[in-house]
Amino acid sequence: MVNVSQLSLSTMFKNLILVPAVLVLFGACNSKEKPAGPTEITTWQYGKNAAVSLTYDDGSTNQFAQALPIMNRLGFPATFFIITGQIPGSQYQGRFIGRPVKEIIRETATQPTNRENFFERASAVGFLGYQGTIDYHTQAGALIDAGKEAEAYRVIDEVYKKVREGGFKPGYQSNNEVAEAKGVTWDKIREYAKQGHEFASHTVTHPRLAALDEANMLYELEKSKADILKQLGPEYTFSAEGPYGTENERVVAYASKIYPALRNRMPEPYLAEINRGSKMQPGTAKKEYVQWQRGATTKTPLPLMKSWVDTVAAHPNNWLVLVFHGVDDIGWEALPHELLAEYFEYIKQKEDKLWVATFGDVTKYMRERMNAKVQVSEKDNKVLVNLSHSLDPKLYNLPLTLKSYVTSDWKTVQVKQGEKVQRVQPRQDTKGTFILYQALPNAQPVELSGI
Ligand SMILES: [Zn+2]
Repeated sequence: MVNVSQLSLSTMFKNLILVPAVLVLFGACNSKEKPAGPTEITTWQYGKNAAVSLTYDDGSTNQFAQALPIMNRLGFPATFFIITGQIPGSQYQGRFIGRPVKEIIRETATQPTNRENFFERASAVGFLGYQGTIDYHTQAGALIDAGKEAEAYRVIDEVYKKVREGGFKPGYQSNNEVAEAKGVTWDKIREYAKQGHEFASHTVTHPRLAALDEANMLYELEKSKADILKQLGPEYTFSAEGPYGTENERVVAYASKIYPALRNRMPEPYLAEINRGSKMQPGTAKKEYVQWQRGATTKTPLPLMKSWVDTVAAHPNNWLVLVFHGVDDIGWEALPHELLAEYFEYIKQKEDKLWVATFGDVTKYMRERMNAKVQVSEKDNKVLVNLSHSLDPKLYNLPLTLKSYVTSDWKTVQVKQGEKVQRVQPRQDTKGTFILYQALPNAQPVELSGI
């Protein structure tokens, strides 16, 4: 649990600005104190200093066989961005939405690739009925993500020429990410979800979304969501990650209409996002919240990985989003599970300062808090705290941590919301006696009383 020394000066200062009148009113008198002081929503759950999310991309099989048991042992929930098309029982597999591909192939003989026809060709190229063409989609998409359109067009011209000349064997061959994810089943995923892990979309086939036309991009995003909804339920359609960490504006605009939370990018004005490639330090961003993404690869030394944790623990508003891919030789940049175990144990040692939670839960916490209202009133020597927010209550139903200042006469505080009753021991900081407790927003008022 948090103690006073961990709260930054700026947080305290801000709270002072928010509630000076109340502080004067209730903070100064000694003999007959009123029960109520100010109540605030702590920056992170349980009043912790920072949030940490462990996220895994692609759903390669050792993430579940090797990494998941370590996290279960330590009580850490993770977020898995899964490729849905290859999971047995999924309704939607990879395909091209559009004209017969033979027409497209024929046109490429006389019309070079340009801005008008690129997206259709790049969408179709993996599904022409040949093995090996999907790599050209990936390559062209990477060039689009890098802003190199002319080079992307050349890659597409090259692959269609090779197709016309009979350079590929017939059939279908997926990309590596799909191949390495083979083995997991919806039954298994449901079991892992019950253990507290979040499952989230990483599309149907792991394409370069920036290279797809509208119909195919929507197919990848919407049909992945449809299968997750059918297999896991609406709770798991909250978060998504467009493959390859794309920040392409067009992709983000489409995807954010379909998924409430994207690890790629989020629109909140109060949130600074530092992506995996950035050298910016999270302590320098001047926003209410800072999301700092770090990707651990085989080239990342463990001491550096540990320093990320130390950095966020030292700031009051940081959210460290760790991005992992392969584990034990399966998947991109696979890390040995022994290294992950040592790293997660390091995080565990700092758990008094860190809230380890799924990507979806941290997003919900920030959004609820930033859109919440707290009203405090008194009645019959009890304090009533009303917590509400303006967001869709079906999506945003995470309890928030409240910090209420109460009279020092109360040696133990009963916290009652609806049927739920708990007893909390008050603590002290420079502003007075306070309690930390969780409250459900948009529910009955929380009743605090001294016992
Ligand atoms: Zn991926």
